[in-house]
Amino acid sequence: MAGSKIVALAGGVGGAKLAEGLAARLGDRLSVIVNTGDDCERHGLLVMPDHDTVLYNLAGIEQAGLGWGIEGDTYAAMDQLAAYGEEAWFRLGDRDLALHVARTSRLREGGRLTEVCLGLQRALGVAAQILPMSDASVRTQVRTADGWMEFQEYFVHQRQVPDVLEVRFDGAALATLTAEVATALREASAIVLCPSNPLVSIGPILAVPGMRALLAAARARGVPVAAVSPIIGGRALKGPADRMLAALGHESSALGVARLYAGLVDRFVLDTVDAALAPDVAALGQGTVVTDTIMTDDASRARLAGELLAALGLGA
Ligand code: GDP
Repeated sequence: MAGSKIVALAGGVGGAKLAEGLAARLGDRLSVIVNTGDDCERHGLLVMPDHDTVLYNLAGIEQAGLGWGIEGDTYAAMDQLAAYGEEAWFRLGDRDLALHVARTSRLREGGRLTEVCLGLQRALGVAAQILPMSDASVRTQVRTADGWMEFQEYFVHQRQVPDVLEVRFDGAALATLTAEVATALREASAIVLCPSNPLVSIGPILAVPGMRALLAAARARGVPVAAVSPIIGGRALKGPADRMLAALGHESSALGVARLYAGLVDRFVLDTVDAALAPDVAALGQGTVVTDTIMTDDASRARLAGELLAALGLGA
């Protein structure tokens, strides 16, 4: 449908793949609201892993195979930082570091987070808007047997080995929606929850006060809201989403994810291997789409995005 605007909610790698497929079809008609709960300070710089993963994918420069970071990046600065005795477990590539330097310097000059991010996106030629879920600082923390810790301590340093016993979003209660996020959701013809970790990627976005109300208002206007399952055959393709779901008392399956989104979405995309779960998902009030949801290359991203848009009534 020409002219219709779409909003996608995304975390890192899984979300970025679908966002890129949507961007290839929609260009500047796509707004991606990204999780900022994973953001952290490294070497005095603000690092935004999910924003930057979506940025590099939409700019077409992401590391092949990994999906995050910049293809062909080098690590000279990191090695030199380590030589000075700086902590080096969070490996930032040289070209990646330039983004964190530019962003932090613009923020220190008084720039607003969303505006600074939009400026950096334009510089890389990205037509879609990638919107931080809030300009305020929200930090995801997880509790393991060792106690509460920052998300990246668990995710990168401890390599997601410990079981997560609890999750909290520090600062979320005081965070406010940006004008850009509110406008995008008010103008959306359809909203998509990308295949991202529902607990620590989509969860923090939904925790920003006012976000759920805007999604509900969109649904009340008849705007379709769809989710794509990040769990396929009971497993996450990467990352700890499956173990985290189970440890926190949810079913590690597409149905478990659909239950988490009950009342929020009215369509749910499951992988073909999970076709048998479709009736149970439908019983939650979610129209089901069963298709191949594994995105291995640009063609499979574009195909899934196209099928999704068709299911949302926005086929070309
Ligand atoms: P992270 O921040 O890098 O962990 O990335 P996300 O929050 O976006 O989510 C990771 C989730 O994405 C995992 O549950 C994966 O199973 C899921 N995922 C990654 N690639 C794909 C894919 O091609 N298709 C689907 N359906 N899910 C995917």
